[in-house]
Amino acid sequence: MYTRPLARLIEQLQRLPGIGPKSAQRLALHILKRPHEEVETLAQSLIDAKQQVGFCQVCFHLSAEPVCEICHNPNRDNSTICVVSESRDVIALEKTREYGGKYHVIGGVISPMDGIGPEQLNIQPLVRRVSQQKIEEVIIAISPSVEGETTTLYIGRLLKPFTRVTRIAFGLPMGGDLEYADEVTLARALEGRREFD
Ligand code: ZN
Repeated sequence: MYTRPLARLIEQLQRLPGIGPKSAQRLALHILKRPHEEVETLAQSLIDAKQQVGFCQVCFHLSAEPVCEICHNPNRDNSTICVVSESRDVIALEKTREYGGKYHVIGGVISPMDGIGPEQLNIQPLVRRVSQQKIEEVIIAISPSVEGETTTLYIGRLLKPFTRVTRIAFGLPMGGDLEYADEVTLARALEGRREFD
């Protein structure tokens, strides 16, 4: 159906999340129509992003620098840490413009079925941060799936001896991802956070 290099491009695009065969074909045909230079810029930006973006050594948010801009920002509240599962949750919360503290990205959720225990996540560095710095509140903002709940309970129990721990009040459907919540819902969830018990 497709000439070989085109088939390969479609095949690769189709591996991206949310891209089905139809979208992959549409994108591939679009790319072929674009000027050579534009396609090269696209290809190069894929390679650059992959090569240059790593993790902030403090909070584990995606960053091209050793320490990310949020951690660097002196105007942000150093005494509050919001714990999220993925970098995309930081982005979702930043969009609400309601949160002025710092973050900690643990990099997933505890899921024994997938072989992910606490050791596979950035939980130890979080405990170190909270126990060694003057942290007044840790807000846990992890989606309330079964694994998310397990993770929230695990982290809450670990951190409670050191500081005040709260969790955001999800008006979200069970298993709803932070990134799919609209900004108002997320801002309200943050505002309505409650004590971890
Ligand atoms: Zn950071």
